[in-house]
Amino acid sequence: MSSFKTIQNLNVANKRVLLRLDLNVPMRDGQITDTSRIDRSLNTIIKLTKAKAAVIIITHFGRPKGKADSNLSLEPIAKALSQALGHEIPFATDCIGPKAHMIVEKIKAGDVVMLENLRFHSGEEANDIEFAGKLAELANVYVNDAFSCAHRAHASTESITHLLPSAAGLLMQSELDALSKVLVNPERPVIALVGGAKISTKMKVLTHLVQQVDQLIIGGGMANTFLNAQGINIGKSLCEFDMAKAALDIMSQAVAAGCEIVLPIDAIVAKEFTERTKSETALLDAINPDSMILDVGPASTADLKTRIANCKTLIWNGPLGAFEIKPFDAATNVLAQEAASLTAKGNIISVAGGGDTVAALANAGVEEKFSYISTAGGAFLEWLEGKELPGVAALKE
Ligand code: AMP
Repeated sequence: MSSFKTIQNLNVANKRVLLRLDLNVPMRDGQITDTSRIDRSLNTIIKLTKAKAAVIIITHFGRPKGKADSNLSLEPIAKALSQALGHEIPFATDCIGPKAHMIVEKIKAGDVVMLENLRFHSGEEANDIEFAGKLAELANVYVNDAFSCAHRAHASTESITHLLPSAAGLLMQSELDALSKVLVNPERPVIALVGGAKISTKMKVLTHLVQQVDQLIIGGGMANTFLNAQGINIGKSLCEFDMAKAALDIMSQAVAAGCEIVLPIDAIVAKEFTERTKSETALLDAINPDSMILDVGPASTADLKTRIANCKTLIWNGPLGAFEIKPFDAATNVLAQEAASLTAKGNIISVAGGGDTVAALANAGVEEKFSYISTAGGAFLEWLEGKELPGVAALKE
């Protein structure tokens, strides 16, 4: 993390700080249905205001495609943030120009204001330096706390860093710290557990991970594609038959890199994916043509438990089974609880994230019990692909 500028390195006292957050909260019928993104942003806001900064919050919401859209106004989010902070936050109905200046020019050290949706201007997603310049006029310093937006080079995440002294906020720092611990300088052995539906969506992740980790555990629907590629009959399981060669390529890349690929050795199968369907354990050479694999079996689960007990670092993306319906969440739950308990004992560092992983780990009751669970979705996956994220690169010393 030392290679990134942080707010600890910045003098923000009596300065106007443009703070890029990700407050793209889920909303239904005008009501925020989950305030986690707001809650997680509070630490940085409070840290800056205590350091006597005047904080100007910028963020996007939805996809207004460069035009003002009252349905995608940030006003309800500013109200929710006011509630969370316990004081009123003035709101400007534009993020640049006279309306923004009018609000910003009144703020004093320790105040917080919020500006309207960045994506009401096409310059935001175009990473337009002129638009970034209009944002930069409002402040003296820029802080980015939106790791989940860092995989996009937008004006408020990339261009702006060329115009103002810039640093990572506390949330961005913890995300970068956690990800560096598992992929940059990990304690070995390192295991990556990758599950989920399809290999086509995770090809780049798998290709990168075989070069980085000691063991790559493959579960979920994507394991079926590997099993099929090896000539195993997988009945009517979810499978990407046209990805068989890609799966075999990953296996040979793993051999060349000295990474062990771990595939299921047994399975939980059922004739249909419904709540009360009859399910049973099957060995991989005995899958009925009319059955589908919906979870890894008990022998696999026991083997994986031993493997993670013997590693030092665990990276987890994707469920081991079709966890939305019981009992097909069983292996994910057992492994997640084992990882949580090893983490609590200080035996492993466990970092998880991306796609449905957060929901699967919440279902297992461990969302607070990993070393770090990233909610950054796309940005987390791009990091696992080994890509340099433009919003992170822009904050390098
Ligand atoms: P992803 O978003 O790629 O992590 O995929 C998550 C999805 O994979 C979840 O909706 C799971 O239900 C699904 N999934 C996991 N294992 C299986 C399986 N064996 N068969 C079908 N779907 C699965």
